[in-house]
Amino acid sequence: MADRTAAGADAPAAGRPGDEANDADATNGHVAQRTVWTETTAAELRSRFDAARAAHQRDRFPTFNVRDDRLRRLDEMIASHGIELAEALVEDYGNRSLLQTIAAEPITASGQVRHTRKHLKKWMRQRRKFAGSSFHAIGGSAVLQPQPLGVVGIISPWNFPVALTMAPLASALAAGNRALCKVSELTPNTASVLGSITSEWFEADEVSMILGGPEVAKEFTKLPFNHLFFTGSTAVGRQVMLAAAQNLTPVTLELGGKSPFIVAVDGNVVAAAKTLISGKIFNAGQYCVAPDRVFVANSRSEEFLDACRAEVAARSEQIDTTSIINEHHYERVINLRDDAIARGAEEIVLTSDARDGSEDDAAAPPRTIAPVALVGVDESMAISSEEVFGPLFTLERFDHIDEVISDINNGPEPLAAYYFGARNEAFEKFVTQTAAGGVVVNDIMIHVGLENLPFGGVGQSGMGAYHGRAGFDTFSHLKPIVKVHSPLTPRTTTPPKPELVEKLMRRTLHHRSGKKKN
Ligand code: NAD
Repeated sequence: MADRTAAGADAPAAGRPGDEANDADATNGHVAQRTVWTETTAAELRSRFDAARAAHQRDRFPTFNVRDDRLRRLDEMIASHGIELAEALVEDYGNRSLLQTIAAEPITASGQVRHTRKHLKKWMRQRRKFAGSSFHAIGGSAVLQPQPLGVVGIISPWNFPVALTMAPLASALAAGNRALCKVSELTPNTASVLGSITSEWFEADEVSMILGGPEVAKEFTKLPFNHLFFTGSTAVGRQVMLAAAQNLTPVTLELGGKSPFIVAVDGNVVAAAKTLISGKIFNAGQYCVAPDRVFVANSRSEEFLDACRAEVAARSEQIDTTSIINEHHYERVINLRDDAIARGAEEIVLTSDARDGSEDDAAAPPRTIAPVALVGVDESMAISSEEVFGPLFTLERFDHIDEVISDINNGPEPLAAYYFGARNEAFEKFVTQTAAGGVVVNDIMIHVGLENLPFGGVGQSGMGAYHGRAGFDTFSHLKPIVKVHSPLTPRTTTPPKPELVEKLMRRTLHHRSGKKKN
């Protein structure tokens, strides 16, 4: 357990891993006593929330030093236990690339924390705000004061449970808040490690990991948090928003969707195919910004599919490196494919050896699926509306960019959109006439890792954003503070010459109405 003496104090707490006295423990690969997965009870959840709220009441504006110390501990915690966390996640998946897991989880999470820590002092400053020339002319001034919100709740999914918990947590702590994090029940080993290490490195009223499934999650969302930050599916996001509404708790929803991938007639077809296949192999396509619907210019589609086949052949060994998380999700992906085929879609297998759980691929690791293209998909098929979250993709051919635009605009707003092609009129039309959380040209998913760019969805793919300063602002109230030398209100409500002021105001309104001055 962490030493509680320094909770909320303006000094680093003594006796925790990462403090100088304990640096022997804080080495990379340090293994915490992992507690076994135990669901947090409703009573415990409430008491942790109350403790965090009481701590916030005692110190509503943590100093830079306190926040910096929290971020330092967060970074050191992630680095010290990074390998352990990645290994736990590999265990949760049964089969997942350790290298990709280390890169996408502790390394990415630590990058976000470090970026936040580096810029914290600047972000915490009051921001001067221009409030109108006549106001400044009389000597008034205005600033925006970033104010901590209080106790925030963070709910994360199973695909990247470390980064998707730690990155919003870094923003929340930087903004001076305390946090409770509900991590996914589908990755219990990772959640258990997160639970153990967090209680070692943080006071329970600073940061607390809550373990449990949907029932615990529902209780979690009933708490009167000052902000709820949810990453997960659109369906559950809706329930989170409903629950939060009872307390008027503001929400950030980081959801999913069907991200389009466009290969224009002037696009580099080979580069596009290599990128798409890499994106479908990476974590077996189980990530929110994975390309889901592929649109290819009609005249380039055969060339594109050949390039996809060549890329799958070149990367055949990597297909086996990550499994679908569990049997339920495996069945879900296979059913999406089978439903589409049963309703008339054509399956284009991109590899010579099928890896879909059939008897032929008994030698392959469990729940691995090779990338598959489905052509001829229509609205009757589940895959036309459900997020794939796996290695399948649908392929649609087009002659004019307008067809792609109207197709995308007829569905829910995607989280990301990818475009391979020249930056010409068609591209400008695509970018300006469709909505998406973010757009990447000639690549996929790299925008998520750019620490200084806001990341978030729009419409059905989410609301609000984080990463970098956007995250700090999400977890702050930007409170306007207006200063004047002597009060203006008495002078404006009882002016010395009311008739003159009235005349002036009448003239101003008349002028603004567009009529000629009289
Ligand atoms: P999910 O919505 O099933 O679960 C996410 C979290 O919500 C879990 O911790 C779960 O326990 C919790 N939860 C379940 N029921 C709840 C309820 N009623 N109220 C509150 N919380 C509840 O999502 P998942 O299957 O874990 O993750 C996959 C989804 O997440 C995909 O749709 C994917 O696109 C999305 N995702 C989005 C992002 C992003 O940054 N936008 C990142 C990763 C994943």
